[in-house]
Amino acid sequence: MSVPMLDMKAQYATIKTEVDAAVAEVLEMQHFRGGPITEAFERELAAFSEVAHARGVSSGTDALLVMFRAAGIQPGDEVITTPFTFFATGGALVNAGAVPVFADIEPDTLNMDPERVRELITPKTRAIVVVHIFGQSANMDAFMALAAEHGLMLFEDNAQSLGARWKGMRTGSIGYGAGVSFYPTKNLGGAGEGGAILTNDDKLAENVELFRCHGSPAQYEHIVVGYNSHLHAMQAAILRVKLRHLEAWNAARRAVAAEYNRLLADVAEITLPYDHGMGEHVWHQYVLRMPRRNDCVKIFKEREIGHGVFYPKGLHQQTCFQGITKAGPCPETERACKEVLALPIYPELNPAQQAEVVAAIKDHLSA
Ligand SMILES: *Cc1c(COP(=O)(O)O)cnc(C)c1O
Repeated sequence: MSVPMLDMKAQYATIKTEVDAAVAEVLEMQHFRGGPITEAFERELAAFSEVAHARGVSSGTDALLVMFRAAGIQPGDEVITTPFTFFATGGALVNAGAVPVFADIEPDTLNMDPERVRELITPKTRAIVVVHIFGQSANMDAFMALAAEHGLMLFEDNAQSLGARWKGMRTGSIGYGAGVSFYPTKNLGGAGEGGAILTNDDKLAENVELFRCHGSPAQYEHIVVGYNSHLHAMQAAILRVKLRHLEAWNAARRAVAAEYNRLLADVAEITLPYDHGMGEHVWHQYVLRMPRRNDCVKIFKEREIGHGVFYPKGLHQQTCFQGITKAGPCPETERACKEVLALPIYPELNPAQQAEVVAAIKDHLSA
């Protein structure tokens, strides 16, 4: 029995009538860019995320780029972030003119380590970008304290963690601004690319509106050079439907994670994902660590079991960043890159499928 990494058709089957009606409504309306449906979604997303403002853009990558520009990140500003993340976190910083400075991670949570960040702060440092990796909040108490102490902006990359919490607060509502992604495989995935910026700051929200629309406060007036980046009504209509199910889906992911933890608890060679228990984890990925990871990947491939290596390389090791970024020593990141393996996790994953995944791991370890 093959097991997919993600089963989007299974999810669609559970909400088809709602989604199809929402799409039909947009087609009847013929209002595709901005408009009442996009604005309604922005309000609902802000309410869900417990922030004052949400503003849609074309992707999670654009959310970060537009947010950094709107916040006034200037060419040459140093911005400290994690090397253990998807490329976009670093790429958006470079495209905003900043110099990413990579700080190593905590070996247990795989989130950026506040102590490593502290060591890299210089007079050129303007901001910190925290990524809540795999759906679990970073240590926001420590990062808020660091940012306040040094007068830095604190941003959250909330692409993998929509719905998560840190001590009762939603991730994405804690820093100055946050980026969200609606890439189809994210916990809240659209039917194509999409993203949003979250903030409690009125001025930042206003600047985001400016930057997402060619720096134009009024038609044919342009006061800064911005972007053309919008969340389209078709995406917003589908995301409105799916947002209503997100809490239940995230709870289902937690149940899947708990079941993997139970099934793998007695396997000595494996390090299970660490849950710090300081808030709700939304399990965008279930990532464990194991010896001879690459051999296990071979077995998964033979048996057609979905898996992922997030991430095989730290951003500080990426070719395109050499010479234009900085980094502290990153031994924990480099060790994690050799050991991590992501297992299939999604709300519709069933016990028989999970048993299949676990059998493959046990067969690998006994080989
Ligand atoms: C997915 C992701 C992004 C980028 O989002 P896109 O919508 O794919 O552009 C940024 N940061 C992280 C951590 C992500 O996982």
